[in-house]
Amino acid sequence: MRAWLLALAACTASPRPSLVTTAETSQYLRTGTYDEALRLCHDFARAYPHVACDEIGRTVEDRPLVALRIGTRGPVIYIQAGIHAGEIEGKDAGFAFLRDLLDGKVAAGALDAVRIVFVPVMNPDGHERVSPNNRPNQRGPEAMGFRTNAARLNLNRDYVKADAPETQAVLRVLAADDPVLLVDLHTTDGAKFEQDISVNTAPVAPRGDQLAATAAALSTQLVQRLTELGHLPVGFYPSFIKDDDPTSGFAVSEAPPRFAHFYMGARSRLGVLVETHSWRTYRERAASTYHALQAIVEQATRDAAAWQRVEHDAEVADLALRGTSVPMVWDNGPHTRPLAFRGYAYTKQPSDISGADWIVYDETKPQLWNVPREGYIIDGGFAPVVAAVLDRHGIQHEPIRGRVAVEAFRVQHVTYPPMFEGHARVELQGAWAPETRELDRGAIRVPIDQPHVRLIVQLLDPALPDSLAQWGLFDTVFERKEYMESYVTEAVAREMLAKDPALRATFDAALAADPALAKDPARRLEWFYRRHPAWDERQDLLPVYRR
Ligand SMILES: [Zn+2]
Repeated sequence: MRAWLLALAACTASPRPSLVTTAETSQYLRTGTYDEALRLCHDFARAYPHVACDEIGRTVEDRPLVALRIGTRGPVIYIQAGIHAGEIEGKDAGFAFLRDLLDGKVAAGALDAVRIVFVPVMNPDGHERVSPNNRPNQRGPEAMGFRTNAARLNLNRDYVKADAPETQAVLRVLAADDPVLLVDLHTTDGAKFEQDISVNTAPVAPRGDQLAATAAALSTQLVQRLTELGHLPVGFYPSFIKDDDPTSGFAVSEAPPRFAHFYMGARSRLGVLVETHSWRTYRERAASTYHALQAIVEQATRDAAAWQRVEHDAEVADLALRGTSVPMVWDNGPHTRPLAFRGYAYTKQPSDISGADWIVYDETKPQLWNVPREGYIIDGGFAPVVAAVLDRHGIQHEPIRGRVAVEAFRVQHVTYPPMFEGHARVELQGAWAPETRELDRGAIRVPIDQPHVRLIVQLLDPALPDSLAQWGLFDTVFERKEYMESYVTEAVAREMLAKDPALRATFDAALAADPALAKDPARRLEWFYRRHPAWDERQDLLPVYRR
């Protein structure tokens, strides 16, 4: 009896594990190690009911990636911090906010309305590459992690190609939990100004459903709530159009889905990028991040169910895009509107700047993309590498064989911009045209009548900036693999001219039209080789067809 009472006392009195961060105990001078983040994740799970700490993957250096899962009902709000590991207040503010949320001190009623999934550090390997000098444009903490993962990939350019195991882990969470909103927590780089935080909702450009309008409303609501909470927020990313020229103003535009929050738009979901101002102290940035999370979770408590309906309607509308044209890329238009932006005086034009009216570009010029009626086909040899990426996004595909009438994309001109994120990216000129193809063994079909239509087009239409073609996954297509010796071509050209009298006129016209061709013996011979059956017809043919 007595032993039983003692056991009960020991059980009920067992102190809650410390859920306090190094940031808090150091008055926000320092941030903790990744081991501390792992310990906190597991301690939260021990301290509260309906909280779990899950390993969602492993990093390049084989560290566990963890997600804290909170709550049992309602749609999921997914929050990630430390994707750029030097911008780390999202981790510390996230733990502080979630502790207060679970203790009932903030955002009352939230856990009756939404579940929360929090990845405290999306880039743990970068987090552990610690130096006081990793963020030269940032005030505190005393030392911080590095921007990229261990393979030197910027994870916030990786959401479409999904090279990194860290990104792949997060994509699995997004596919499994299907959050209504992704929140990505950062610190700005660049310019000095008074505003202390920016919220950037996505999608931005109008798209024929209610998603962009819902994102714009969320932006307005967050800016208003952050103002009430004592901040100076802006609803766009505060980087100047010309880097060192504050009078150039700001551009607001739809970016490619390689960025986490725009990726959500491609999935017909909502995203928000939060950027605190890097010249604020670590304590101030943690406070503004805490309040951003508070504002987001308060709004989600009211609106998450409505967001879910808008997203469902958007997905239904996406299915009707089959065989139509849809805007996928936007440029800023000429229209501007004045904006009161509180910059600091700067040396070039000190009198003009402080408190002046600034400019934000807000009109977008859409470029139209054709969505295929049935879907895309990836021909044999390239199917495995494409299927691997499709699988990371949860996109369905199936084997296809036989002879098919398709549109194929033959590339006329390729240029290679500088290396980017470890890829020899390519810029392509070419066009879709009807062809009949005998498919190779292993070819796959990607039907368009499935969720994530916009993401499928972003991945597979070679003219889009995050397409696998432009990320260089098909580069061998542009390489010459077989040759005709020049003495052979000399003979072959003569045979061809003898057989086809019209060919002489075509050749002469080509020489007249292109003086460089006329002067280049190798290209003159290639002109005939390209018209001969020995020419490799797969050179410059993208292995992605549509129909
Ligand atoms: Zn960042």
